[in-house]
Amino acid sequence: MSIGTNWAEYHEYRATTLHRPTTMDQLQEVVSAATRVRALGSRHSFNDVADSAELVTLEAMDSAIVIDADSDTVSFSAGLRYGELGRALHDDGWAIRNLASLPHISVAGAIATGTHGSGDRNGTLSRAVAGLEFVTATGEVHSISPVDPDFDGAVVSLGALGIVSRVTLDIEPTFEVRQDVFENMSWDALLANFDGVTSAAYSVSVFTDWQSVGLIWAKSRTDAAQPPLSLFEATRATVEHHMIAGMPATNTTRQLGVPGPWIDRLPHFRMGFTPSNGDELQTEYIVPRRFAVRAIWAVRALADRITPHLHVSELRTMAADSLWLSGAYETDAVGIHFTWKKDPAAVLPLLLVIEDALAPFNARPHWGKLFHSVHRELYPRLDDFVELATRLDPDGKFRNAYLDEHIF
Ligand SMILES: Cc1cc2nc3c(=O)[nH]c(=O)nc-3n(C[C@H](O)[C@H](O)[C@H](O)COP(=O)(O)OP(=O)(O)OC[C@H]3O[C@@H](n4cnc5c(N)ncnc54)[C@H](O)[C@@H]3O)c2cc1C
Repeated sequence: MSIGTNWAEYHEYRATTLHRPTTMDQLQEVVSAATRVRALGSRHSFNDVADSAELVTLEAMDSAIVIDADSDTVSFSAGLRYGELGRALHDDGWAIRNLASLPHISVAGAIATGTHGSGDRNGTLSRAVAGLEFVTATGEVHSISPVDPDFDGAVVSLGALGIVSRVTLDIEPTFEVRQDVFENMSWDALLANFDGVTSAAYSVSVFTDWQSVGLIWAKSRTDAAQPPLSLFEATRATVEHHMIAGMPATNTTRQLGVPGPWIDRLPHFRMGFTPSNGDELQTEYIVPRRFAVRAIWAVRALADRITPHLHVSELRTMAADSLWLSGAYETDAVGIHFTWKKDPAAVLPLLLVIEDALAPFNARPHWGKLFHSVHRELYPRLDDFVELATRLDPDGKFRNAYLDEHIF
């Protein structure tokens, strides 16, 4: 029997079994008995990265959140979503450095795919990982920490190494954030001042339909420099906005500079409400920061082909990391994201055109969104990742069609 579709109702999982273990013993039994099995997170990826003959969700396992104030870390069961983890952390006086646009996603699914938020000095969500525990193909439990030489290969794992059962993340004392939205910036001003715009706040997102620059969302920590009254030629909005024109701001986190806990401001969307548009597909290409302006120009040249199929695009920044399959591997990076109308017949061919336009800029696709090609030469540690996955999973229990096509 079908186990249903992903969040976007675009990919119907081929798996016919969805296991729901409630204990580690049950999880280990499921994994050791299966021939082909993988973990399913909260189903927010847009492609078949998660799929397998059998899937296992950790949603029914006790979240078992343990905060360690000596090491500034939190560990918890891997099925937990950021929204639930974030609330527990904030209530106890703690925070994670950064979040994606939505708190609805599972931590394990996000870190396995290199999911990110924004901020020149903020790494991807995967970079916050301080330790992992996972069930390997034999059913044994394996722990890995940053001192292990395999660690940088094991975080953005695409689920290829095993079922992550427990995650440890770095945390810091809780903080408050205010969110201000700026409008009316020209392309010339944005591109001439790109570094100034993205460094104007703790986390900056530029939204566009590629015809004009749209809204610029700036999230500033209240314990740091406050946002400017105007951002180059852009002025502060005086009403709240959704980033997709015509959608109500009720689904989005508070704006207009109202301070609030990090968990209620760093995501764009509020837990309990539909994030984004809901009727959509997504794509994102991550380019090294040094190519950002030229890459944005290259996509702008395609504006008239892109805009009719688009809800909105978003430009975000992220700091370099050392994780082998990360989009920000050894380079500060800029994500060029597209939220498409749900019309795959129009969107999929267009992705080929965009990939051609971005190829000179070493664009790496977001692993959890729609794309055609992975350029293997852009991942200097890819062979090491294949060796690691083969060593831990010699019979390919955690391999699937996606991994066979793009990685192995
Ligand atoms: C509305 C919307 C907004 C989004 N916003 C952002 C954004 O701001 N930034 C961004 O970067 N991305 C964004 N994404 C993409 C999304 O965050 C990623 O695709 C992420 O992987 C989804 O996590 P998930 O828990 O849904 O994982 P799934 O899609 O369920 O799985 C993804 C991968 O993780 C693996 N996995 C999951 N759990 C485990 C586990 N326990 N052990 C081992 N492997 C595991 C799966 O096997 C699979 O390979 C967005 C998606 C949507 C739908």
